[in-house]
Order: sequence, then C-alpha cells, then structure tokens
Amino acid sequence: MMDGGFWTNRKVFRKDGQSFSVFRGDGTGTKAISFMARRIDWDTYFMRIAREVSGRSTCDRKHVGAVIVRDRTILSTGYNGSISGMPHCDDVGHMMDGGHCVATIHAEANAILQAARNGVMIKGAAVYISASPCWNCFKMIANTGIRRIVYGEFYRDERIFEIARTVGIEMVDLSEADWK
Ligand SMILES: [Zn+2]
Ligand SMILES: [Zn+2]
Repeated sequence: MMDGGFWTNRKVFRKDGQSFSVFRGDGTGTKAISFMARRIDWDTYFMRIAREVSGRSTCDRKHVGAVIVRDRTILSTGYNGSISGMPHCDDVGHMMDGGHCVATIHAEANAILQAARNGVMIKGAAVYISASPCWNCFKMIANTGIRRIVYGEFYRDERIFEIARTVGIEMVDLSEADWK
C-alpha cells in the first residue's frame, strides 16, 4: 500500500472492447477513472477490412469479402462478382446451377486473381474471408501456398477442415470473436 499521493495505474479490459484505467493506492479501494478504446488486434483489423470489401459484392445471394495479407501488409482484395465486363447479378438476376449462383467469381478467387494480375507473390500469406471458402476456392487457396485461412463465419463445406489439417493450413474461426 502506497501513501496518499502515489497512485498506481492498471488497465482493465472488458469484453465489449472498452478499457478503463483503475487507480488505487489511497486505501479506499478501486475506482474507475477514465474510458478509452482498446486497440484492436490484427485479426480483427483485417477481418473488418474484409467485411468492408464485401460491401462491393454484386450478387446479393451472399456478400463476401477477402483480403490477402503477409507481414501485416495487404497484398490484394476481392469480393464476389461477375466476370469483368459482364452484367451484375443485382441488375440481371442470377445464373442458378444446382441451387447456387455460378455467375460470380468468389471473393477469395478474385483476391488471388488480383494478385496474379499485378504480379504479387502470395505464397506463405494469410487470407481473411468474411465466410469460409467453398470447396473450389479452398482447393485454389491451398495451391497458392497460402497457409492461414481466417474466416468470419462458416459457409458450407465441412471437408475443407480435414484437408487443411492434412496439408498444413491453419484454419482460424472468428465467428465467435469480437470483430463485428
Ligand atoms: Zn448471383
Ligand atoms: Zn468459393
């Protein structure tokens, strides 16, 4: 216990992302002094950007965004949309096949393609996707050499998890995390 006048400061983090500093030392117990926003972690940061990217999607069956990252640097982004130069689903309707819209190129595929167009090496990178990859996109991701897939919600294919384990891709589920 310190004498009055010498106060120690510690920070308490709450689940809602706010923190507040607690000063103590005068013998009267603790009291909250100030509120400040907690600095967000990198996974939260990039997943929120992926969600922002999904806002550009042109197929309203599902809006998905993807961000490819290495060394905390964004290498490319993508959202699900039609072939360049073709009309958007939102304007002309979907191209349905087996219960799915096949008019669009998926977000993670477009992020890979954007990197390819610009000659950006994505081997060893991570991809942040607002929804977990479908089987076709997962296969592509695996063969790019991307070794970490962070997803904001589960989409539809359970097979990807076992294959990811087999080939050494880390799957990170942020569906319960505090990024929304
Ligand atoms: Zn569509
Ligand atoms: Zn896909």
